[in-house]
Amino acid sequence: MSIPSTIAIDGPVASGKSTVGACLARRLGYRYVDTGTMYRALALVAVRLGIDLEDEGELERLARETSIDVTADSKVLVNGRDVSAGLTRREVEAAVSLVARAAGVRQVLVAQQRQMAQGGSVVMVGRDIGTTVMPDAELKVYLGASPQERARRRYSEVVKRGEAAQLPDILADLERRDRIDSERLISPLQPAADAVVIDTNGLTIEQVIAQIMGIMGEGP
Ligand code: C5P
Repeated sequence: MSIPSTIAIDGPVASGKSTVGACLARRLGYRYVDTGTMYRALALVAVRLGIDLEDEGELERLARETSIDVTADSKVLVNGRDVSAGLTRREVEAAVSLVARAAGVRQVLVAQQRQMAQGGSVVMVGRDIGTTVMPDAELKVYLGASPQERARRRYSEVVKRGEAAQLPDILADLERRDRIDSERLISPLQPAADAVVIDTNGLTIEQVIAQIMGIMGEGP
């Protein structure tokens, strides 16, 4: 296959999609968009404003009134202010899947993501990129791994950031988010029918990237 101009990478929490997507984009000189950061940014605002996360109408209104920009170096701006540092906070992780299941929120953010993908030379990662945001993506990859392996990866990231964490809590949070993301009615987490599914259990990031480069007919 020739180098695809639009690459969709989907997968559950801590499946490695952000690291893999960013590396791949760097190698190809493509734009990298992590759509999870957009849902997180909106969740951050919703939490700060004390919005009822069960109130889909309020969440949709918030999405329509909030300007969310992702810069070329992956910073996330809300109404022009850089909120990147707050996106991995616990309260954001607890809220984000509830915010992301609101149909109106998805409508607003998906439209914006489609615009970002226009023109190609893009690697976009998330949950519904291959199924909904870029159904015509030239390459679709779905990364999977067991909840235990993903929890261990997330645990090391959190510890590396110097934050306190307990592995069982991380596993429970990840399984909760997976459940909400997979069971929601609109664009649930699932591989596109034409996605290449990679089981990343026991693989390093480099090995996953090598597999994807191999699919594209490129050496590592
Ligand atoms: O990828 P990340 O874990 O940062 O995504 C945070 C949350 O945002 C996910 O758990 C999911 O609820 C939501 N999300 C989504 N669709 C996307 C990307 C993320 O629903 N395309």
